[in-house]
Amino acid sequence: MTRSLGSGSLVIATHNAGKLKEISALLEPHGLKCISAGSLGLPEPAETGTTFVENALIKARAAAEASGIVALADDSGLSVDALDARPGVYTADWAERQWFEGEPGRDWYMAMGKVEGMLQELGPDIDRSAAFHCVLAIAWPDGEHAVYEGKCAGSLTWPPRGEMGFGYDPVFVPTGATHTFAEIEPAAKHAISHRADAFAKLVAAQFGA
Ligand code: IMP
Repeated sequence: MTRSLGSGSLVIATHNAGKLKEISALLEPHGLKCISAGSLGLPEPAETGTTFVENALIKARAAAEASGIVALADDSGLSVDALDARPGVYTADWAERQWFEGEPGRDWYMAMGKVEGMLQELGPDIDRSAAFHCVLAIAWPDGEHAVYEGKCAGSLTWPPRGEMGFGYDPVFVPTGATHTFAEIEPAAKHAISHRADAFAKLVAAQFGA
């Protein structure tokens, strides 16, 4: 049986204010008080896992051990079928600019171009199927854990289209749709996204909703 979060405090293992706000809005109606790892001064562990599950667990366990409070972490990214599921856990890294390419920071157009270049090298008929993944991991201070995996399947298009969203949204067309994630309103994306899928599983398991 799934261990219950109950009500009380939950550390959200992220230093990203946007993620904290989004996650708090989903969980606080269920009686949980969300605290960010950043506000507790918890260090960010190195994401050394090779799967989304491993990385989400690394972050959740580190926060639970350091705070003594049950913790929730997420890990997400894009996997492309024809590229053997890459970039996968390296989704954000593929956007990392190198020092010789200018200011440090993330360049999503470069990252989308890298994926597209690899697909084009495989030929014009290559399968363009891809999926966004989101894993939510809960870790209790005594070592117990629970994992919820969400997915949104689709295909990649080129050139990028749309101004909304972030990351690889302008090249991702969810299955059954004609618009990219960057061309649809955020609410429409949130209704079908990998993150929504993972949260629905967590809420169903934890709160029976
Ligand atoms: P992380 O889970 O914060 O490590 O993010 C991994 C990376 O996956 C992000 O930096 C984005 O590039 C990508 N990613 C995750 N979710 C989405 C999404 O909904 N749209 C576009 N890119 C995403």
